[in-house]
Amino acid sequence: MLDMKWIRENKELVQQAAEHKGLDFNVQQLLEADTRRRELQQQADELRQERNTHSQHIGKLMQSANARRQKQGSEQTIEPEQYTEPLQQAAEQQQLAALEPLPVTKQEQAAQLKQAVAKINKQLKPCEEQLLEAEQQFRKLMLEVPNPASPDTPIGKSDADNVEVRRIGSIPAPAFALRDHVELGELHGMIDINRGVRTAGTRSYYLKGAGALLHRAVQQLALDYLLERGFTLLDVPLMVREEAMYNTGYFPAGTDSAYRIDGENRWLIGTSEVPLVAYYDNEIVDVVEPIRLTAATACFRSEVGSAGRDVRGLYRVHQFAKVEQVVLCEADPARSEAMLHEITANAEQLLQLLELPYRVVAVCSGDMSPKNYKQFDIETWMPSRQAYGETHSSSNVHDFQARRSNIRYRDAEGKLRYCHTLNNTAVATPRILIPLLENHQLEDGSIYIPAALRPYMNGLEMLQAPA
Ligand code: AMP
Repeated sequence: MLDMKWIRENKELVQQAAEHKGLDFNVQQLLEADTRRRELQQQADELRQERNTHSQHIGKLMQSANARRQKQGSEQTIEPEQYTEPLQQAAEQQQLAALEPLPVTKQEQAAQLKQAVAKINKQLKPCEEQLLEAEQQFRKLMLEVPNPASPDTPIGKSDADNVEVRRIGSIPAPAFALRDHVELGELHGMIDINRGVRTAGTRSYYLKGAGALLHRAVQQLALDYLLERGFTLLDVPLMVREEAMYNTGYFPAGTDSAYRIDGENRWLIGTSEVPLVAYYDNEIVDVVEPIRLTAATACFRSEVGSAGRDVRGLYRVHQFAKVEQVVLCEADPARSEAMLHEITANAEQLLQLLELPYRVVAVCSGDMSPKNYKQFDIETWMPSRQAYGETHSSSNVHDFQARRSNIRYRDAEGKLRYCHTLNNTAVATPRILIPLLENHQLEDGSIYIPAALRPYMNGLEMLQAPA
């Protein structure tokens, strides 16, 4: 979420940002909703103020009327309810004869004021209803405002417009016919798509034996790597309240991509970025040293927008595991830019430990999520696709999530500011098993295990193909 004052002052930029991200968003509608809710708020405030003044005045008039009666020897004080009716009638008569002289008695004055209060209440009710509606409309549009992409983000429509930044490692060119990961998985009895689909439906799988071990090994390697570099490991909720999805900027755009728990206001996470950032909701954090968090979780995605795409094997599945990096730092663009490079470098180092060729691309505006300010993707070479396939996504969100989540810190002058947040995959599996198995296969179907993974694979150097 952006600051409304900033949006008012930069409306062209916001509209352009939405267009660059290919979003159907009209900033003018937001500005009109903002004006309307502020006008209604002012009307409601004025009416309430007027009502308060009248009520105080009525109170004083009643007090002095009662005092007078008591002075005249009457035991009975007049309660407000008792004299409402006759006084209201009197006030109505006064109203009808608008030009008549002012009421002479205090009771008459009070009656007239009560009549005015009743009239205000009549006006206030629809005004408050309209205000509530206007607030809801404003909030809905506010949640749709995208984070403008950084000035150095390539402008484009889809991943075809992403710009390669660097390539690391050489693409293997073996002199034998390569098997894809599904064939290799079946050969070794470690990937079973058929049983996965039988049990859990499309885009499901079982990993077995060495397959399940590799799946865990890459995650543990990533965790150990991050823990050595000052990351704190959290075990996090896999089901979160809807609020956490909104606060982290996944909703409203991504409601279709997530699974809701039936009958509850809770959702399965598509990434541990959500509970990791939400850990600090409404808190004031210390980011003198950036906060580095990691978690290894299952992730759940409906993939509604991907019907018919990547249907073979493990590339696009409904449930996968991911080790995530999340960083919170000062709202200093240079600082968060440096952190973006740090978390990207972490992922690259891990790919180098896995001995896999990859490239880094600067993600273009149209391929970027509405919440991101700047994004790099890492794509790893997948022989079966004869292409680099996305395996990591590294994003600087600036203060977009922190504003929605109300996560602040005190700067050097003691002023409260929203921090910057960032996230990147450390490893996502089983997708990473695709390049891992396919790039490291030998002619007979045996699979080489990179040295960095061996400690997590009982020292195994090679998965021998069955004879
Ligand atoms: P994201 O959180 O969307 O940036 O995705 C981070 C990484 O998670 C991707 O680069 C993939 O490696 C992996 N991933 C995302 N969606 C899927 C999916 N449906 N199936 C398998 N892996 C996925």
